[in-house]
Amino acid sequence: MSEGAPKKDEKPRKFQAIRGTRDLLPPETALWNRVERTAHEVFGTFGFGEIRPPIFEPTELFARAVGGETDIVSKEMYTFSNPTSLAAMVPEGRTEGTLAEMLPEAEMISLRPEATASVCRAYIEHNMQQLPQPVKLYYMGPMFRRERPQKGRYRQFYQIGAEVLGGSDAPAIDAEVIEMVMTFFDRLELQGVQLDINSIGHSADNCRRGYVEKLKAALENVKDKLGPDSQRRIETNPLRVLDSKLESEQGSIATLPHIADHLCEACATHYSAVKHQLEMRGVIYRENWRLVRGLDYYMRTTFEITAQGLGSQNAVCGGGRYDGLVELLGGPPTKGIGFAIGEDRLILSLQESGKAPAQQGRDVYIAWMGERAHATAIRAAKDLRKAGFSVELPPVEQKFGKALGQADKLGAKYALILGDNEVSEGLWTLKTLADGSQEKYTEADLLDRLRKGKALSS
Ligand code: AMP
Repeated sequence: MSEGAPKKDEKPRKFQAIRGTRDLLPPETALWNRVERTAHEVFGTFGFGEIRPPIFEPTELFARAVGGETDIVSKEMYTFSNPTSLAAMVPEGRTEGTLAEMLPEAEMISLRPEATASVCRAYIEHNMQQLPQPVKLYYMGPMFRRERPQKGRYRQFYQIGAEVLGGSDAPAIDAEVIEMVMTFFDRLELQGVQLDINSIGHSADNCRRGYVEKLKAALENVKDKLGPDSQRRIETNPLRVLDSKLESEQGSIATLPHIADHLCEACATHYSAVKHQLEMRGVIYRENWRLVRGLDYYMRTTFEITAQGLGSQNAVCGGGRYDGLVELLGGPPTKGIGFAIGEDRLILSLQESGKAPAQQGRDVYIAWMGERAHATAIRAAKDLRKAGFSVELPPVEQKFGKALGQADKLGAKYALILGDNEVSEGLWTLKTLADGSQEKYTEADLLDRLRKGKALSS
């Protein structure tokens, strides 16, 4: 018996998905697939290509890119050690080393909490600066953050994101990236979409640094009225105080200085050009001076998109410009802008607004009886599937009454009835389950009939 097997009289443990993770199941996965297919299509029309980076990377990559002071890096990453060479670490004369013996030399790695850092790492690693610029990439897949689970917030969640790297920082690029997300949401008929934009200035030009100083001073004046989280952030990350949703803090926050009044000339010009470019594209936006985003790498343009039906976790997309990031990771000076869409929330919102497709039933349930009919049923199933129909072929013979009941339960549109009579006559019976009507067809006519039925219903 293997070690993990339960002892006699001991009930085997009932396993459940880990808190904050979940199984995505049919029919919901059909909606996930539709969303992802639409992303491939829409992003492709904007000239983006797909990148699939690994799911874990050196912890240091995220610490450097996302920022050591952020919640994501300081509290939420799943981090473990990755002994680079097991054999090299086993002391002489021993065949195995304990984990503690290996740890000092092991590299720390983390499950990715986001993918922008990975995309920038890949841009550098594959010398993509030598490709025609800018390089436009998109990705989709799971991310991992140890957050407190609630509706719309998971520990394994999914993002669909895109990045534009290299080339210029022309405001038209910012606007086109935003236009692309809005086009994607529009194609999905996402409801109650609201785009908020802001500029958070440029740290190298000092306009953000200057603003942060003023903000800190203003925050010190209202410190007593703030909760412990915001009080701590005055020192660690004062911009994040503007993110606060605490009702009791809203009055104080309203009195704080606005960054728009402190942007340097270059940032102010860039910001107004982005707005103009959005208007040229017919993209409706709202300016939100409190939109700062939680990640360290953002500069100038930031944006966030909310949708309906999501309660407090209503942001479905966040993004912004990050011109210094590639360089910070050891690459050449490179402009960058991108976004990440929370796919779980996008799906939730589509479901809440009834935009999710209804459960997809089978097209045809084949009710067969008798050995000869079974052989015909197998051939019919093969041909119908080849023609693109979804077919259920029961593995064992059933009485027709039971088979029709089963076809109903599965939401089949038609039952194809194949008994000895049908097979010897060469005329197959097709029953339309919605109205119970029944007709006979030759094998060739049947396919035509089903094709016409499909064309009518789609
Ligand atoms: P961020 O990478 O933090 O800028 O987040 C981008 C988007 O990812 C957010 O607007 C959310 O839609 C989504 N998101 C972030 N964290 C989670 C989470 N823990 N669970 C579900 N979605 C998330």
